[in-house]
Amino acid sequence: MNNLHIKNLSKTYANGTKALDAISLDIHNGMFGLLGPNGAGKSTLMKTIVGLQSYDSGTITFNEKNIGEHSQIIKKQLGYLPQDFGVYPHISAFNLLHHLGILKGILHKKERNIQILSLLEKTNLLAHKDKAVHTFSGGMRQRFGIAQALLGNPKIIIVDEPTAGLDPMERHRFNNLLSEIGEHVIIILSTHLVEDVQNLCTEMAIINKGNVLLSGSPEYYVKAIEGKVWKKQIDKEQLTEHQKTFDIISTQLQAGKLHIKVFADEQPSHEFVPTSADLEDVYFTTLKKTV
Ligand code: ADP
Ligand code: MG
Repeated sequence: MNNLHIKNLSKTYANGTKALDAISLDIHNGMFGLLGPNGAGKSTLMKTIVGLQSYDSGTITFNEKNIGEHSQIIKKQLGYLPQDFGVYPHISAFNLLHHLGILKGILHKKERNIQILSLLEKTNLLAHKDKAVHTFSGGMRQRFGIAQALLGNPKIIIVDEPTAGLDPMERHRFNNLLSEIGEHVIIILSTHLVEDVQNLCTEMAIINKGNVLLSGSPEYYVKAIEGKVWKKQIDKEQLTEHQKTFDIISTQLQAGKLHIKVFADEQPSHEFVPTSADLEDVYFTTLKKTV
């Protein structure tokens, strides 16, 4: 069982933005969802784990080894798909993987070749291996991104908002690929999409403004608010007044009518009916507590 342990990790950028404020997380094998709105600190945290970003204080250990002190060993065990991959050189996917494979330390050419062909097959890109990556569609690029992240059989795979900008089909395909990667490694998936965490992750953390607001299993937190979520249909004009009176989690416009969801221990009034809780309710109620 692999273990990534983050303790009191803090980072303030030169301009004074406190991006990580004493973050602590304990992550094991399986898919871990890092959920939070834009600006929460997700990319900063991921770049810090990967070693591309310095930090001010705190510790990160992987399988009991401090990553600061063993950065070269850890880097070989790590695969990373950044939020912005940047510019792709105008070379074929196949050649680019060879290049990245060498950087990753897979120096034996035959071994590298076998691995690359198997990764291209896994990510459904074998037929496109001789095309330049800059000509790929968004979905293909992200699948290529996973292929390069898997070079060298890493024990930690970090993917930063991988489905942003993908259409629903591509997103589905990409998520299936992620869930196939296996239970024997740590996969950290950052996203602002609750649905992706709900569908894919066994463990999660909600972060905002550089703080961990909660961490644990999604199921646990959904169960914890079961029976405390209520819904009601109102006119649009009634929204302001309802916002003053109730703890509104979310609003949804359907055929000109507003459906509101409210968080309350007891039925807020007789017009409200109970409704089942989901991870989105957990997410919104958790974020609301901190604004
Ligand atoms: P997320 O990935 O969750 O959207 P980020 O980690 O990118 O969040 O950003 C966290 C905070 O740090 C934001 O307020 C962002 O504006 C700020 N930030 C990110 N990168 C830098 C940087 N290089 N210099 C200064 N501030 C930054
Ligand atoms: Mg980000």
